[in-house]
Amino acid sequence: MKPYFAFQWHITDNCDQRCKHCYIFAEDNCKKLSEMPWEKMKQVVESCEDMCSKLGRTPYFYITGGDPVLHRDFWQLAELLKEKGYHLEHTRQSVSFK
Ligand code: SF4
Repeated sequence: MKPYFAFQWHITDNCDQRCKHCYIFAEDNCKKLSEMPWEKMKQVVESCEDMCSKLGRTPYFYITGGDPVLHRDFWQLAELLKEKGYHLEHTRQSVSFK
């Protein structure tokens, strides 16, 4: 297998937490939460594939946000990357309840 080239990919600002240290929600940074549309996401995957093919690498995706699982097309993206045989990790936030 070709060596990996890792992409850290912010697909949404949406998150159900409001951590004080978070750059997304700091001060007035995020008055409107945005997320990448599905057509753009497919273009990004193709662009990453194109770049990796030129570099002789295998794409490796770290999907972030916000909470990437809250993106309406997260599971569609996960399925697409799985079909293509690419590795996917994501930064789902976890919360513990006492
Ligand atoms: S994206 Fe991460 S740091 Fe920001 S509010 Fe959500 S959990 Fe907190």
